[in-house]
Amino acid sequence: MSEVGKLYIVPTPIGNLADITHRALTILAQVDLIAAEDTRHSLKLLQHYDIQTRLISLHDHNESQRAGELISRLQQGINIALISDAGTPLISDPGYSLVTQCRAAHIDVIPLPGACAVTTALCAAGLPTDRFRFEGFLPVKMQAKHQVLAGLLLEPVTSIFYESPRRIAQTVKDIIEVLGGDRELVLAKELTKTFETFFSGTADNCHAWLLADTNHQRGEFVLLVSGNKKSQTDVPPEAMSLLVLLMKELPLKKAAAITAEHFSLKKNTLYQAGLDLNK
Ligand code: SAM
Repeated sequence: MSEVGKLYIVPTPIGNLADITHRALTILAQVDLIAAEDTRHSLKLLQHYDIQTRLISLHDHNESQRAGELISRLQQGINIALISDAGTPLISDPGYSLVTQCRAAHIDVIPLPGACAVTTALCAAGLPTDRFRFEGFLPVKMQAKHQVLAGLLLEPVTSIFYESPRRIAQTVKDIIEVLGGDRELVLAKELTKTFETFFSGTADNCHAWLLADTNHQRGEFVLLVSGNKKSQTDVPPEAMSLLVLLMKELPLKKAAAITAEHFSLKKNTLYQAGLDLNK
């Protein structure tokens, strides 16, 4: 056993059990310990591939304390693989604290490429892929959610969100309110599974489709929002959110001036962005 162990970041399938690499299976079988978000869930995957490695839990609620224990084990020469319930760990999943602590302790962190819902959805959605913005889950609270969405008003690149079946219809409704019913969306649902579906259309069309049949709202979703094609602005999304909020209460000139001062931007740029919003 080497002096210090390594931490392997190992993606697991997002639906189709066959979507795991040969290298991932080898590493999972070879390491001394697998840190998993939900050990009972991951046991099924390991049993499917006849992997006997011991599991230990690492989830949002115990990560800060568990990370310390795992670092000690790594320093004793134990090799550990980190997995999550599905897809790539750390992508809207636990592991960030463990990885930063490993890096700080000069422990090697070895990433394996593999399944991830965001790239799986993007590569087949038919929206521009040259640049994109991944936002994870939207905030649950309405005001914070609307603020994030307002940041997309002039965003020129494709934005991508994870969303739960319970909230998908309401989120599309919120998009209609904030971005307008004609913004192009893609709903990428049940990726890699039997009922994989891509539904593309305006936000109005997508909302109507979701309401047309309760089955349409079931399953896991990646929501892709097309960029604003008319937008050429250099205004960062955070500044755009503030501008939109202030514009509800103040004249554009004043809203632009306050936002410009807060973000050290030019007043004219903000003023023009505000005018573009009202076009
Ligand atoms: N780490 C994962 C990854 O690499 O994609 C994401 C974990 S996050 C907790 C779970 C969310 O990812 C789901 O709520 C859904 O939005 C998205 N997701 C995961 N699997 C999916 C699938 N098969 N089809 C569509 N979306 C999926």
